[in-house]
Amino acid sequence: MSALGRALVLVLLSVAVPLGLVRAHASPAAGVERMYVMACGENRTEDVSAWSPGVNVGQPRVFSNHCYLIRHPQGWLLWDTGNADAIAAHPDGVSGAGGRLLVRMPKTLASQLKELGVDPMAIKYLALSHMHPDHTGNANLFTAATLYMQEAEYDAAFGPDAAKYNFNPATYDKLRGNPVVKLRGDHDVFGDGSVVIKSTPGHTIGHQALLVRLPKTGPVLLSGDLVHFEDNWVSKRVPARNFDREQSLRTMQAIEAFLAETKATLWINHDKAQSEHIPKAPASVE
Ligand SMILES: [Zn+2]
Repeated sequence: MSALGRALVLVLLSVAVPLGLVRAHASPAAGVERMYVMACGENRTEDVSAWSPGVNVGQPRVFSNHCYLIRHPQGWLLWDTGNADAIAAHPDGVSGAGGRLLVRMPKTLASQLKELGVDPMAIKYLALSHMHPDHTGNANLFTAATLYMQEAEYDAAFGPDAAKYNFNPATYDKLRGNPVVKLRGDHDVFGDGSVVIKSTPGHTIGHQALLVRLPKTGPVLLSGDLVHFEDNWVSKRVPARNFDREQSLRTMQAIEAFLAETKATLWINHDKAQSEHIPKAPASVE
């Protein structure tokens, strides 16, 4: 079957199969086994107030950045792909985000996967929080994966105006032929409730976050860039360059209610102080 045909079948399947039916047929071994949190770059700004208008003006800050590799009985799922591995050749960093960030990649994603014995072609499921280049940096490695994206983000990223959305198609162009499940809202990836994509628009047109039910740690919500730092979360600050400010605020309110309901912990990708407490690959979290 052609890639397009496969993609179509997948989209139809995702629409046609009621979640209850999937759950009824889920194997007894269903559920996430473990997750590897990989450091996927470190970016520094000299003025963090671009992410909190009017607050912390002129203050520098370092952003952590991560890729999250999830082991499920149905296969490997990768959430986000970090800064581009090519940046590792420049230990002092390169300029990014229109000069607002100094972008570094101390250890490549490819080398971390190798250390874990996971071939990029063995990644069966690829989900990206959004298509900004600090999340799509190594997307081109994963041409065998089925892509899970909000339809609006997909159309923006693969349409003629990708640059207007601050996307860099060179980082993900090889995914054009991948099978894709285009979403319009939340999606239970494995049908057992263990990994659920949450639609969280605002930072970009089709931004999404990921609920992961870890066997020992419990439920965690991987933020993507629905918020960048703990202090911005507490004060519900919206970065100046978000796609839609009002939608960003509505998303944060909805996610606050969702966290209360699910008792999930918010793991903020770019918050270095918070992320330092999470074990990194090759160790795993369970
Ligand atoms: Zn980001």
